[in-house]
Amino acid sequence: MPERDAPIDPQSVKILIADDDPGLLESLRGLLTIQGYPVRTAAGGGAAIEALREKHYDLLLLDLTMPELNGLDVLRFMQAAGLETLTVVVSGNSTVEDVAGALREGAHDYLKKPYEPAELLATVRNALHHKALEDANRTMRARLEKSERLHRVIVNNSPDIVFVLGADHRFRFVNSRVHELLGHARRDLIDRSVFDLVEPEDRDKAEYFFEQAASPHPHIRSVELALKPGTPSRTRRFFEVAVWPSSNSDDADNGETLIYGTARDITDRKESEAFINFQAYHDLLTRLPNRALFRDRVDVAISHAQRSGTQLAVLFIDLNRFKVINDSLGHTMGDRLLQEVGQRLQACIRKGDTLSRFGGDEFTLLIPGLASNEAAIQVADKILESLQAPFKIGDQELFVGASIGIAIYPDAGDNLEALIKNADIAMYREKSSGKTGVRVYSPDMGGHPPRRLQLEQDMRRALERDEFHILYQPQVDTETGHMVGVEALIRWDHPTLGLLGPAEFIPVAEETRLIVDLDRLTLRTAIREMQRHSRAGYPELRLAVNLSPVLVERDDFVEDFLGILGETGFPPDLLEVEITENLLMSDTPDTVHKLNRLGAAGVQIAVDDFGTGYSSLSYLQKLPIHTLKIDRSFTHTICREDEACIVNAIISMARGLHMNIVAEGVETEAHRDYLRDLECPMIQGFLFGQPAPLHTLLENEALFAAPTTCQ
Ligand code: C2E
Ligand code: MG
Ligand code: MG
Repeated sequence: MPERDAPIDPQSVKILIADDDPGLLESLRGLLTIQGYPVRTAAGGGAAIEALREKHYDLLLLDLTMPELNGLDVLRFMQAAGLETLTVVVSGNSTVEDVAGALREGAHDYLKKPYEPAELLATVRNALHHKALEDANRTMRARLEKSERLHRVIVNNSPDIVFVLGADHRFRFVNSRVHELLGHARRDLIDRSVFDLVEPEDRDKAEYFFEQAASPHPHIRSVELALKPGTPSRTRRFFEVAVWPSSNSDDADNGETLIYGTARDITDRKESEAFINFQAYHDLLTRLPNRALFRDRVDVAISHAQRSGTQLAVLFIDLNRFKVINDSLGHTMGDRLLQEVGQRLQACIRKGDTLSRFGGDEFTLLIPGLASNEAAIQVADKILESLQAPFKIGDQELFVGASIGIAIYPDAGDNLEALIKNADIAMYREKSSGKTGVRVYSPDMGGHPPRRLQLEQDMRRALERDEFHILYQPQVDTETGHMVGVEALIRWDHPTLGLLGPAEFIPVAEETRLIVDLDRLTLRTAIREMQRHSRAGYPELRLAVNLSPVLVERDDFVEDFLGILGETGFPPDLLEVEITENLLMSDTPDTVHKLNRLGAAGVQIAVDDFGTGYSSLSYLQKLPIHTLKIDRSFTHTICREDEACIVNAIISMARGLHMNIVAEGVETEAHRDYLRDLECPMIQGFLFGQPAPLHTLLENEALFAAPTTCQ
């Protein structure tokens, strides 16, 4: 704003003089020109209006009394046109009313004729100063208005809620964003307390925050709050609320300290944070706690058990057959199965227990505050029982069993690692015994079984170094007690781990596909050994080999298999391949075609472990199957009267379908006798000894016949 006395450059102002008296006009012009003012003259009201229309003048010296259009007319014109030219009325014989009228019409000042030149110049100077001030004011106001408009646009278009609170925490102002984000009408909020908008669980936090924010030295500038929606159809949203108190009296409204604030919608961020958090501690597929959370919980439970002198149990639950299901039916089915297994397991546990998906098909369970070892075994039994019913996934019925290892604190370890490791060891022992049950860890179980990676590396070398060999298990004619066939079972002489059974390495071999080489090796070796020994008096002895689904599913399986058979010249009708039910379930025309080709070549086909998978007899009827091998878990129910009927049913139905039957897992004479009474034609099991080298079996063959003859 210019100072009142700041000099005005005469060259920069434009002055118009209007008078009907040419003499006066001339003398005024002369006077002002000498002072350096550029001046234009108008000889009368009409000329003045014309000049004013033409361009802008800062100052007009206007004679009031002029013929035709007089001074008042000119003033009225100026008012109507909204001109900002300042007017000084110069009047000779005009009355006081005339002058007053002129001032009313917008004149700024007046000068009475005759005047002293000095008086005129002072009036002109004053008027110009006034005009300069007015102009400066106007510019300032325009600038202010512009900046206010700008601020309004910014505030109203801000992506954040912008608000002003009074010292009583009631809204004085809030922008329209509050309606878009929360559904509150702006006017409804005015005079309402900000706390009405805060969700109850954040109320205390909000009160503390706004109290301290209004203090002279606030130390927290922002806070995260959940705010209530204005309509029930909307969901709550999360905001980062920041405030600035206006302790400055310029900002204060009627002396009241205001609080300016913004609230930024951070709902998306919060939700993704929550998701990331959940993800960090949960398995997304089953939504169960993951390994990390499980470890945390076990840690906490151990410290609690230490203080209170109580026990806790860690259970390691490993599903059986999951891998085969996953491979043959696809990952989508596998995933859904895992989800359902998770739900069933969850239904078996109490509130304080933690069930987690440890990885793959492994689950772990923490049971804190354990009353006794038996309590943990009971939970494990309950879990196994809950898994017995088939899982209906799509239109499939799937069966999965589990092996469970239990480690009890403090006996099986006093730290997290030891407990998990030992539960795993116990589970592994249970699984490698071929059973699907529960085992509690005891120190005599020894160390950890070899882990996948080591096995995988070792297995490649083992194939080159010939570390595998075959043992045979006799298949015995139930009537005569004679060995009519043998099943080839692979073993691994591991250089450091000792003799390993298939349960310990076949899962890894299948995962790495090394099983293809293993199965071909078994086939060749077994045929060679059979040929060597059958020449020695057992020309009719049949050979059964196990084939992994991984091998059968290969495109070149049939050519490759028949190729080996052709090379060796082994009679196909003495060879039986054992496949699993799960392979059949993949039900591709491809598999059926392959099996048909094998059958056409004379090879016998057996379904191994029948009853543990999910095929039905009617289904098998459509396939080229010669033999059913009843799984040992059914054979073992023989002595339990209520359950033995499953074996009866399988045998009579298989007979109806003209299939050969081999009952596996015959361990006792009672088993054998029962099966003989049912006319099950063939049996296999530890009753005839552990799997052994072929020559040993052949040397002792005579022994088999003996027991069957005595009742
Ligand atoms: P499987 O084909 O059902 O073989 C029978 C398994 O039951 C053998 O276990 C055998 O030792 C065991 N067994 C036999 N009689 C009894 C008994 O009376 N009671 C009990 N509790 N168990 C008995 P093994 O040798 O550990 O083989 C396990 C599985 O590994 C086999 O089950 C078979 O599926 C697989 N397998 C073995 N050799 C090969 C192979 O060369 N290739 C493939 N792909 N799989 C093989
Ligand atoms: Mg078998
Ligand atoms: Mg079997």
